[in-house]
Amino acid sequence: MRRAVGIHGTLHRIEDLQKRHDTKQTLPTLLCDSEGCGASVRFVPGHSRTPVGGVPMDVPAFIGLNKGAQHQPGCRYDAPARLQSILTAGTDAAFLPALEDGKHELRLLLLQQELKRGAAANASEPSSDRCLATLADLLSLRALCADDALLAARLTLRLGKKKVDWSSFFYAQDRYDDAWERLGSSSTDLPMALVGTVRSHRSPQPGAGAGTTYLNCAPKYQRTDVADRRDFYEVSVGHDDAAWLQSFPVGSEIVMFGLWRQGRTSTTSRPHPTDPRRTITSVTYKLALWPVFKQQLIEIH
Ligand SMILES: [Zn+2]
Repeated sequence: MRRAVGIHGTLHRIEDLQKRHDTKQTLPTLLCDSEGCGASVRFVPGHSRTPVGGVPMDVPAFIGLNKGAQHQPGCRYDAPARLQSILTAGTDAAFLPALEDGKHELRLLLLQQELKRGAAANASEPSSDRCLATLADLLSLRALCADDALLAARLTLRLGKKKVDWSSFFYAQDRYDDAWERLGSSSTDLPMALVGTVRSHRSPQPGAGAGTTYLNCAPKYQRTDVADRRDFYEVSVGHDDAAWLQSFPVGSEIVMFGLWRQGRTSTTSRPHPTDPRRTITSVTYKLALWPVFKQQLIEIH
């Protein structure tokens, strides 16, 4: 959940709650903002965690149900009910067939082929709008859940003959490094979905003529166990339609789906701010997506 309401109906976004936390202001009592729900929820601030023997990692802030609380039926955060209605909507049996064990299977090969065909033909509309629309519903639902468990229990991912784990398909910001590594190690073009928070848009200089605009997401910052070295994982989407990319405002949360590419890794060094004997090295790994169809970017509400 990205937002909640106070008991008097004031809307609180996750960023505002984090600011309140950082400036040591009291946090309001929070309720689910979906109409007619009002389930009791709580804000958990972003923090840093060091696993035993591991490298410190940043855990993003989130809003989740309070213990014992439940969303009302029909609430947009009622993930099991939403999943049920997507699966029973009678979608394309070639794309999302029901299996004998009661689960469903999502066939990524169809999506992969669709994306490749679209790119090769320079098409702007997919031949199967419905597949991408269903996928968009599933991905927004997954983005609302804290982990893969709900979807994985009901929905198996398959690429050709291979079963694909949800963790190899769907990546939140704290796993951009995994996505980057997956791209480097995979010989097939596995479609992947990344969730991000829009941080900026970069358009070509005025007068430079047509060109690609980039939508950049907040990167993953990864502390490493090497002294004075920092790793960044940057995620961006490139497209010629600047107005379309700008329709996803800064601060909004989006899911980006498609055939990702690794960009060129860059390394910069600068002197340590207080210790002249030390040098800070930053390594930036890049993940880039050039969507073929506009259905590949989904704003999470
Ligand atoms: Zn609710």
